[in-house]
Amino acid sequence: MIGNMQAHSLTTAMLIDHAERNHAQTEIVSRAPDCTLQRTTWSELAHDAKRLAAALTDLGVSPGDRVATFAWNRIPHLALYYGVTAAGMVLHTVNPRLFSDQIEYIINHGGASVLCVDPDLLHLIEPLADRLTAIKRIIVLCSKNEIPDSSLTSLIAYDELVAGANPIDEWPELEENSAATLCYTSGTTGNPKGVLYSHRSTVLHSYSIVAADAMALSAKDCALLITPLFHVNAWGVPFASALCGAKLVLPGSALDGASLYEFLKDEGVTFSLGVPTVWFGVLDYLEKNTSASEREAMAINRVFVGGAGVPRSLIVRFRELLGIDVLQSWGMTETSPVATVCRPLSKHDRLDQEARTDLMTSQGRALCGVELRVESADGSEIPLGSNEAGLLKVRGPWVVSHYFGQEPNSALDDHGWFDTGDVAWIDGDGFLHITDRAKDVIKSGGEWISSIEIENAAVAHPAVTEAAAIPVPHPRWQERPLLLITLNPGQKLSRDEMLDYLKPQMASWWLPDDVVVVEELPHTATGKLRKIDLRERYRNHFTA
Ligand code: ADP
Repeated sequence: MIGNMQAHSLTTAMLIDHAERNHAQTEIVSRAPDCTLQRTTWSELAHDAKRLAAALTDLGVSPGDRVATFAWNRIPHLALYYGVTAAGMVLHTVNPRLFSDQIEYIINHGGASVLCVDPDLLHLIEPLADRLTAIKRIIVLCSKNEIPDSSLTSLIAYDELVAGANPIDEWPELEENSAATLCYTSGTTGNPKGVLYSHRSTVLHSYSIVAADAMALSAKDCALLITPLFHVNAWGVPFASALCGAKLVLPGSALDGASLYEFLKDEGVTFSLGVPTVWFGVLDYLEKNTSASEREAMAINRVFVGGAGVPRSLIVRFRELLGIDVLQSWGMTETSPVATVCRPLSKHDRLDQEARTDLMTSQGRALCGVELRVESADGSEIPLGSNEAGLLKVRGPWVVSHYFGQEPNSALDDHGWFDTGDVAWIDGDGFLHITDRAKDVIKSGGEWISSIEIENAAVAHPAVTEAAAIPVPHPRWQERPLLLITLNPGQKLSRDEMLDYLKPQMASWWLPDDVVVVEELPHTATGKLRKIDLRERYRNHFTA
């Protein structure tokens, strides 16, 4: 028997319509390419989105066609989030921090006919433009007189395009399973792969992340969006903010401590999100350049951190400097991305500070709809609470079934589970503990050593900026850990001092066989350590 309720589609149009009607005057603030601040409201943004939909249709874009963006977190990019998707077209966000051959591959593979580029990123597209085979039009996200000199001809200015269009009256009816956005994984091995999110997955993910035990995002919040709009839809917050009517702050391209502090100070930011590396920069800045009373005056009351394991030291510094909690989240491009969030339960109220910090280093519990499974090498399920690590699989309504252009369900095993490539264990309360990526785990004498735990222990040392623990081939043990560290300016730390510091924190056979201080560590375009390069460079370290 079918229920008798109205079968309205869950679409991004529903989100922006809601924000327009119910949070019309709530502001969206952004830093423009010339560093001035721009302000709009949900109502004006909704209006611009409807103009954009009309303008793109006039340019020949039809429902289902891809529109690519190559842009920072700014108001035009956010308007495209809605103008493209609510009109039934697909927003393909491309990461400008990738290498140019990856950018070329991703744009061509996505097949967009229109590319929308920030003016300060146009120089990256210029040398590729001839090879972007499907792109017919390039829109530059500024006014006509702000378009930089370029060898590219027939560039379209965004401001004039939007101003000259008649907004569509209302959004078209869409099937909720139709595609909304397309984002590619970083592709640390092989070519990047596209994850095509649907309207339904996007809306369900939005409802889920605003919940009290997730981000607890509400109309009272002002969210500073440090995670980029070009990577996994900025963790879904641009959509979730329309759903709950939060104020949004889009910082543009400047993510240094000083620029972000300006927003924290002036805009009433209550909530922010980003990867651990960004936060270290912000905390360093606040520590050196602000007084206790200036920090107290800030409205921020929680930060949401994910994308990589959150070191204990980050949690402690946030508490000591700002008196606020870090909410750790785990997820990946293939999971939209938020799948788990770490929020203590009421039974944890009695924990002392040490134990509470330990708890916060966990990746947290699954959001309703997301199922987690940890498997041993033979494919059998490791029972919850046994604290034994294995391969983490996941399934749910906002988890990928197959990559863009591939066969339906081809990313899943026979039982519909997606293999995350992470190694993890789940405790008796359902808290997830990621110990490694399967390809980064250090296999020493048949046992596994967690590279993440060694790194977290190392970065807690006051002289250490960043750490990478990598498996290096070893004649006796198969692999042994090598620790590479960078130091804070002016600091010195010897191999033995580092090892002495680590000794009380881990089993003796986990201790790295060597420690090398390096000038810098390589990163992927999304700010994660590029261990693949390091493994290659140091592969003979224990055998040479
Ligand atoms: P890519 O897979 O292309 O590197 P993603 O942003 O999708 O890019 O990264 C997902 C991966 O990041 C996860 O599979 C996991 O290894 C890591 N990750 C994300 N969040 C956390 C976290 N809170 N703790 C530990 N690792 C994390």
